[in-house]
Amino acid sequence: MSETQYIAAKTIDEAVNAHSKANGSARFLAGGTDLLVQIKSGIKKPNLVIDVKKIVELNSIEEISENEFIIGASVSGANLNRNKKFASLWPGVLEAFRLIGSEQIQGRASLGGNLCNGSPAGDSVPALIAAGCKAIIAGPEGRKELPIEEFHTGPGKTILKNGEMLVSLKFPKRETNSSDAYLRMTPRTEMDIAVVGCGVNITMNNNKCTSARVSLGAVAPTPLLIKNASEIMVGTDLNSEILDKVSRLCMDACNPINDKRGTIEYRTKVAGVLFKRATLIAIDRIKGN
Ligand SMILES: Cc1cc2nc3c(=O)[nH]c(=O)nc-3n(C[C@H](O)[C@H](O)[C@H](O)COP(=O)(O)OP(=O)(O)OC[C@H]3O[C@@H](n4cnc5c(N)ncnc54)[C@H](O)[C@@H]3O)c2cc1C
Repeated sequence: MSETQYIAAKTIDEAVNAHSKANGSARFLAGGTDLLVQIKSGIKKPNLVIDVKKIVELNSIEEISENEFIIGASVSGANLNRNKKFASLWPGVLEAFRLIGSEQIQGRASLGGNLCNGSPAGDSVPALIAAGCKAIIAGPEGRKELPIEEFHTGPGKTILKNGEMLVSLKFPKRETNSSDAYLRMTPRTEMDIAVVGCGVNITMNNNKCTSARVSLGAVAPTPLLIKNASEIMVGTDLNSEILDKVSRLCMDACNPINDKRGTIEYRTKVAGVLFKRATLIAIDRIKGN
């Protein structure tokens, strides 16, 4: 059995080149809270592990213009939590990220790792999709940007090709009167994987919704953007009739697995309930309640 080699890349080019040359047998390492568990249990057997935490761009939190953030892929939950401005603009993204593991896990786990692990139940992913966030990807052919809802291709699978790495997450400029929320359902209160997760991001002006994005996790092979939700929500005051309609849309979009943690019926019903609750929380946040 060949041993796994380890390198700590200092630049994006170095990481991309090393990954390209390994022809599919290398893995990038951020916090390691998924990858190291998978290597130890034999689920993943990379020949090469490329540590990307020492690359400055992957570890930075940047406000590129007023209320517009780029978060490095390897920034830990603990570090992002300390950024008060980001927390005030994107409370839903932070509450999703904060649900990941324990305090110890938060010191290591990254948004990038949660996304690249490819789990349909990754907690931060519906919040990132609802936020309208984009993935900045570097590869042998240069850089590209991709909406997060296009990042996953199946359970444990992402759009990333050999040599491609996630550099950062680009958040849209935050408009005033906007907020977001993330809720998940788990059988246990802590240290569990979402049976359903829901992210909602809305803007309200003069009591009318002017933009809305809704996303669900753990109810299909990949996290979902509920595309038609915004058509129903925008232009309304998000009254209970509108919320009922979108709740039904969320339930119709579900294509979940049936397992001991949740039946298809249960997951589907909970998706509709979480959508309504998350929306009410986002509305309250806009009102400053
Ligand atoms: C006790 C415990 C509790 C947990 N609880 C939760 C939970 O409640 N919710 C939840 O969603 N997750 C949970 N997790 C899973 C894990 O902590 C998260 O998915 C975390 O965000 C992964 O981040 P990381 O930095 O540790 O990723 P890593 O383990 O370093 O990497 C994860 C995957 O992403 C790839 N990767 C990392 N960085 C890049 C990059 N820049 N470009 C391309 N690929 C990259 C790696 O190769 C690997 O395949 C838990 C894990 C543990 C051990």
